[in-house]
Amino acid sequence: MTEAIRVPTERGVLTIKRDQLMSLHTTFRIGGPADFLTRAGSEPELLAAIDWAERHDLPVTVIGGGSNLLVGDRGIRGLVILARTPGSALDGHVDLAVEGERARLTVPAQAPISWLGHFTASRGWAGLEWAAGLPGVVGGAVVNNAGAHGGEMADHLTSVELLDLAERRVTRWSREQLQARYRYTVLKFEPRPRRWVVLRATFELPPGEREELTARAASYAQWRRQAQPSGACAGSVFTNPPGTYAGYLIEQAGLKGRQVGGVRVSELHGNFFINTGNATAADVRALIALIQEEVFRRFGIELVPEIEEIGEA
Ligand SMILES: Cc1cc2nc3c(=O)[nH]c(=O)nc-3n(C[C@H](O)[C@H](O)[C@H](O)COP(=O)(O)OP(=O)(O)OC[C@H]3O[C@@H](n4cnc5c(N)ncnc54)[C@H](O)[C@@H]3O)c2cc1C
Repeated sequence: MTEAIRVPTERGVLTIKRDQLMSLHTTFRIGGPADFLTRAGSEPELLAAIDWAERHDLPVTVIGGGSNLLVGDRGIRGLVILARTPGSALDGHVDLAVEGERARLTVPAQAPISWLGHFTASRGWAGLEWAAGLPGVVGGAVVNNAGAHGGEMADHLTSVELLDLAERRVTRWSREQLQARYRYTVLKFEPRPRRWVVLRATFELPPGEREELTARAASYAQWRRQAQPSGACAGSVFTNPPGTYAGYLIEQAGLKGRQVGGVRVSELHGNFFINTGNATAADVRALIALIQEEVFRRFGIELVPEIEEIGEA
């Protein structure tokens, strides 16, 4: 076994491992090896990891919870940084500043988005409770403009702080600069290796009734446990076309349960693909193509993937 590389940081030591299977770090449980991989739960760790990659002339891929990704079977070249931390590490470290009628809070990119939904609701601030139960972290949710139950990240986001890898400086973008719309920001469609790393996000939230908000957050989290398929997946594979639902079209086309290799369209939710145990990225790509073709043939509607494909096919 190759030994891990240890890099001293401001607060401790960063561990960088070689040849780590991305299937162990994505919710789809698919993906070949990353040449190098490290976990950066805090900003100093994230910066130390980026410095290390730059010193070794390696491309950097920053991911969060890995819940919106299809990683190629040949993996990812360079350094993959898992920018995530448990919510318990943030309890007591995130300040809500009350300014007049609103609360302003800044959270690190590594913060779990579900934790943020529960946390803000429990303090009586509205607008993020839709995120309760959603996999992933703030960084990934900003990039994808994630959303549910009629809410989305961009609703209450005022700015994000980004590390510009080209100019090596921190810069602040307004919500408008992200050009966020349904499951889209300019950050999501930047070619890799990417220039921008999300460090922090700032939200402004209106007040709400604490009991009502916590009950709503709990019911959203509960709904996910009951209504969404369990098993290895990456959530909705396709975005919803205007005026309809991808899952509905897939169901109407009789494609629920359709399988290619190790991946199957969920019987519970037509827009979820389930890795039955040994799926490859090639299987998923083939199933995506099959569904797109069949839905287009039946309804004349082109389904567009919501999940991002990264790494080498
Ligand atoms: C069961 C299930 C249900 C889901 N339901 C929903 C839903 O209801 N609504 C919805 O919108 N999504 C849903 N998703 C998809 C996903 O959970 C969200 O889009 C989530 O916000 C992605 O966050 P992540 O941290 O996992 O991002 P990742 O998948 O890790 O990354 C997404 C993108 O963000 C980039 N990224 C991550 N962190 C950073 C950073 N710090 N700096 C720069 N780039 C970064 C990555 O490179 C990648 O481009 C679901 C997924 C699953 C598995």
